[in-house]
Amino acid sequence: MTHVPIPPAGHGPVSRELIAAAERYTAPSYHPLDVVVASARGSTVTDVEGRDYLDFLAGYSALNFGHGHPVILDAARSQLERVTLTSRAVHNEQLSFFARELCALVGQDMMLPMNTGAEAVESAIKVARKWGYERKGVAAGRARIVVAEGNFHGRTTTIVSFSGDDDAHRNYGPYTPGFVSVPYGDLEALERAVTPDTVAVLLEPVQGEAGVIVPPPGYLPGVRRLTAERDVLFVADEIQSGLGRTGATLACEHEGVEADLYLLGKALGGGVLPVSAVVGDAAVLSVLRPGQHGSTFGGNPLAAAVGRAVVALLATGEPQERARTLGDRLHARLAELTPLGITGLRGRGLWAGIDIDPRLGTGRECCERLLTRGVIAKDTHGSTLRLSPPLVVTDDELERGLDALAATLREMGRR
Ligand SMILES: *Cc1c(COP(=O)(O)O)cnc(C)c1O
Repeated sequence: MTHVPIPPAGHGPVSRELIAAAERYTAPSYHPLDVVVASARGSTVTDVEGRDYLDFLAGYSALNFGHGHPVILDAARSQLERVTLTSRAVHNEQLSFFARELCALVGQDMMLPMNTGAEAVESAIKVARKWGYERKGVAAGRARIVVAEGNFHGRTTTIVSFSGDDDAHRNYGPYTPGFVSVPYGDLEALERAVTPDTVAVLLEPVQGEAGVIVPPPGYLPGVRRLTAERDVLFVADEIQSGLGRTGATLACEHEGVEADLYLLGKALGGGVLPVSAVVGDAAVLSVLRPGQHGSTFGGNPLAAAVGRAVVALLATGEPQERARTLGDRLHARLAELTPLGITGLRGRGLWAGIDIDPRLGTGRECCERLLTRGVIAKDTHGSTLRLSPPLVVTDDELERGLDALAATLREMGRR
């Protein structure tokens, strides 16, 4: 048999044709790395030319259980053959089970099923405003929600209204009013921003897109104390931080804090389809009466069956345990790599934000070089690299990925 060498990432003839087609036919709202994925299992994706890569992005935590997890695929397959969509005009057996099991997992009363993360955020904004008018007694039209600078909560017109990211925000106005932004991690600023019209504080317990920013110890408990004192809802956006990533089911647990509403998404869909939810206090979620909010696809039987498989995996505690053990390993090894040009290192569990000395090059350049060494990762804000391998990554895969990062940093430092 003649050995045909596999071309480098993005340079095979099929890759080149498909990248050209994507550039020609998809709106240019993304700048993908030069790799065309054809299949994937576990932590490994394979491109159209047969080259393997370690997926250290894992769909921004949408793939916490890796690609094609057998338990999740089995649940999806068997549900595909039974019933996939009913609408909420009728009950469906999977949603009833899913709701009960998800509430048990996170120790909450009630859930509202949606699809994408942004829809969960929008739902919580609506619920918080309605709660403010109907329960807290805020005067009509005056409800305010306090958010944090550097936030990422999604891409809808309302959500980008309070995004500080210029690309996400600019030229999408007129913007939705009613939001006040304060520096993340600054309790005093938060305290000054809360008024009698404030209905909610909406925060990520760890800011993902901002570069895996972990707030100072005591911040989340302080937010909880302040919101409780002022009769304000604490809404924790755990769409990226939740469901095992940080070594706990919810990142808020690390600080012993319980929010009024949790937003879940990404990994809740098991890497199969979009599944999101608002989970929390019945006294809050029950402000929604029939007809006042909804979604055609939210809580559909296929999504619910997949969500149940995800909940079952997390109920064992194993993914969280793995995120803790491997996370310790990840952060220890990254600390060793610091002399190679790392100027900042943050994270929790199997999740890291790595600031690279800008003299070495951009985060994007680092990702492109990592790709040639068979690792997929994502940059953010110029010179920050984000690592979020699937929680099913093996010890050996984690070491190989970090070896590739070390080699990449050395190579960039030599120029
Ligand atoms: C990804 C993300 C969202 C938005 O989720 P989509 O499914 O892309 O709409 C919201 N909040 C946080 C913290 C996220 O990471």
